[in-house]
Amino acid sequence: RTVYVNGQFVPEEDAKISVFDRGFLFADAVYEVTSVLGGKLIDFDGHAARLDRSLKELGMGMPMSRDELLEIHHRLVEANGIEDGLVYLQVTRGAADRDFAYPAEDTPQSVVLFTQSKPGLANSPQADQGIRVASLPDLRWDRRDIKTVQLLYPSMAKMEAKAKGADDAWMVEDGVVTEGTSNNAYIVKDGKIITRQLGTEILHGITRAAVLRFAREAQMKVEERTFTIEEAQAADEAFVTSASAFVMPVVEIDGEKLGDGTPGPVARRLREIYLEESRKAAI
Ligand code: PLP
Repeated sequence: RTVYVNGQFVPEEDAKISVFDRGFLFADAVYEVTSVLGGKLIDFDGHAARLDRSLKELGMGMPMSRDELLEIHHRLVEANGIEDGLVYLQVTRGAADRDFAYPAEDTPQSVVLFTQSKPGLANSPQADQGIRVASLPDLRWDRRDIKTVQLLYPSMAKMEAKAKGADDAWMVEDGVVTEGTSNNAYIVKDGKIITRQLGTEILHGITRAAVLRFAREAQMKVEERTFTIEEAQAADEAFVTSASAFVMPVVEIDGEKLGDGTPGPVARRLREIYLEESRKAAI
């Protein structure tokens, strides 16, 4: 596999990052994941814009332009023959002597990109079955709107959810659902789509923005507000969204089946619309 590291396209075994890189030592880094369908990038501009915002919020510069970034994405997709899969991008504050204070502003930042091939990504059998989620406390820091690589707690929560026989966790804070470990959470009641309002408590999903836009364009009702696990268990259906799962139906919450325990019509329809529209706009 060919990867990109600091200006060079190299075989993955030749890629090098310093042991002093602050991404490694402090999780002082942000990332993005963009899906590839049919060799094209889904929602690239949304991801590029969010990357910019994450960097700004952390006082990091942007080491390259949107166009350069796009070109690197395209070159990697081509070099690795990715038909369906994803491109991962990470930008760190660079390498410096280990110190909690940030290094000098002219410290070169690290930029790493790689691809993962996922044949049939859009036809995952999981989308036909739906996933089960288990609720767990949200123990992450308070700036979840910044897409940092501090992913240890979400990773732990995913493992705990699996140990409970579920596929993923829905994290709960102050009695209400924040989001999934790597996705935004939704419920549907009486045809209305309910999802948490944006704030610093959740990541501003690029897929979320697109799905809500398509839902409104299709005259579906959308309400952006918090909801509890109990309300979710009593909902008609539920689903999650993310760049790599698109729209994924949720069929069970803490062991309680939603409806008849199969993916609901709203989630299925939104998945279809999202895949169709975003393939059309892919670059
Ligand atoms: N929430 C969290 C915590 C995530 O990690 C992700 C994606 O990685 C999302 C939501 C979904 O965001 P997007 O639709 O931009 O992939």
